[in-house]
Amino acid sequence: MTEIRTTGAATGSQPGFDSSGAAGGVEGVHPPQISLRALRKSFGSVTAVDGIDLDVFDGEFFAMLGPSGSGKTTVLRMIAGFEVPTSGSVFLGGVDATALPSYRRDVNTVFQDYALFPHMTVAKNIEYGLLVDKVPRAERIRRVGEALEMVRLGGYEARRPTQLSGGQRQRVALARALVKRPKVLLLDEPLGALDLKLREQMQLELKAIQREVGITFVFVTHDQDEALTLCDRLAVFNNGQIEQLGAAHEVYEYPATAFVAAFVGSSNFIGADAAQSLFGKTGSFAVRPEKVAIAPRGEPTPTNSPHLDGIVRDVVYAGSVTRIVVDGPAGLTLNATVLNAEGGVDTSIRRGAPVTLHWPETAFRRISD
Ligand code: ADP
Ligand code: MG
Repeated sequence: MTEIRTTGAATGSQPGFDSSGAAGGVEGVHPPQISLRALRKSFGSVTAVDGIDLDVFDGEFFAMLGPSGSGKTTVLRMIAGFEVPTSGSVFLGGVDATALPSYRRDVNTVFQDYALFPHMTVAKNIEYGLLVDKVPRAERIRRVGEALEMVRLGGYEARRPTQLSGGQRQRVALARALVKRPKVLLLDEPLGALDLKLREQMQLELKAIQREVGITFVFVTHDQDEALTLCDRLAVFNNGQIEQLGAAHEVYEYPATAFVAAFVGSSNFIGADAAQSLFGKTGSFAVRPEKVAIAPRGEPTPTNSPHLDGIVRDVVYAGSVTRIVVDGPAGLTLNATVLNAEGGVDTSIRRGAPVTLHWPETAFRRISD
């Protein structure tokens, strides 16, 4: 991956990170590509973004994940300069960009409704931004060619958007953003309009393209599978705040709150009362369904594992897995997800059957409410 050096020629205050690579020229130390500090945005009485602190680093594939209305797009628009923060700051490459107009920011955005010019060819669509920037013709042609290769659309120069599939159109939109070689690319649900198969294919391509070009991607989605597939790190948004920030596997394996445990994957919740009475534990806990094993009642289970007796309420076949819903003690409903490997699920586990659920002690995740 090519390393992008931040120049930081700027005036303006520094956000509160340790090294001042921009000002001090410390070799190999860079300020974050994006830093948000106490960022807030209100629309009338609606608080869309409620105090966000975040650093995104060079070359990261960063995802903002959260339900609709949680403030993701508003944060993206403040990074791009399309929206003025009510308070707080946006730093780009260590420089305070809060008051900079969007065209002065080294940031490009790809939207869901990729808004290509319908009357222009693919090549002209991609070239457009370079024309506006008065890039000389020979360089324009070369860069359009490179951008098309990057998104694997070499040979499509002369087509019009109507002659392309949804996935191809999205790749043209991506090329149009990449051709300007921004330090940061913001992507707001760019795959939302594509059907599942194509979306999964584009996810892998996006990841490969990002690795190749090495620029920082900030990717907004409400789809947890998409976020986990694509990103190095992610922020989980809820009500205009970041509920949890971390590497994809950290957030999935160690959800910090009940919201994250439910929104990123699914979880079994064991409230404080049930945790105390059934397991002698203090606090609330989440247990992932794929870590829960299920055995017909009376069959031996690992002696030191936590276990619960229950009655099967439902068995849901879902292709690669079967989901088993069990009514347990203390009003608990628990889910176990069993991989449909060769041999499948024990046939005695059907609706109404008495069963025992068990999981390793380490599968308990303490969460705050
Ligand atoms: P997300 O992208 O996570 O779905 P948004 O950032 O679009 O969320 O919206 C966050 C909240 O701010 C929502 O309640 C939304 O209705 C509100 N909002 C966003 N933009 C505007 C606007 N221009 N005017 C008024 N309310 C807005
Ligand atoms: Mg949005």
